[in-house]
Amino acid sequence: MDPIRFAREAASLAGEFSLAEVDRLRDELAGEEGAVTWRLEGVLVGGRPALRLLVDANPTLICQRCLAPYVHALHFEGVILLARNDAELERWENDDPLIDVILAEPRMDVRTLIEDELLLSLPVVPRHEIGECQQTMIAQGAN
Ligand SMILES: [Zn+2]
Repeated sequence: MDPIRFAREAASLAGEFSLAEVDRLRDELAGEEGAVTWRLEGVLVGGRPALRLLVDANPTLICQRCLAPYVHALHFEGVILLARNDAELERWENDDPLIDVILAEPRMDVRTLIEDELLLSLPVVPRHEIGECQQTMIAQGAN
């Protein structure tokens, strides 16, 4: 798809795929169950073309406190500005170091973009919510 045209037309796309299909995730997961649902919307932010991306997934990870697998509720929501060239990308990043900017390629691969955000959204140290760890394993000193 052409992302700048997508943004200007306020288009939207949504889909779902299995986590087992994501090769780059394989080493991070404790199981192949789970799915990714996503939605992409074209928006203008202060006149600049951008993509709003929403990603939900439920990967099975290993809790680093009790070492038991658990289903992690992952949610990502963000706005990514689309720069037309390197100069624009640099200028926008200088304007606001906190914004997310990518170079808009004429034919962007939506799936790769979603996988990138998914990988970045994984917890560095996966852990159960407080109080949900397997108490028996902690008692055995497995933490
Ligand atoms: Zn745990």
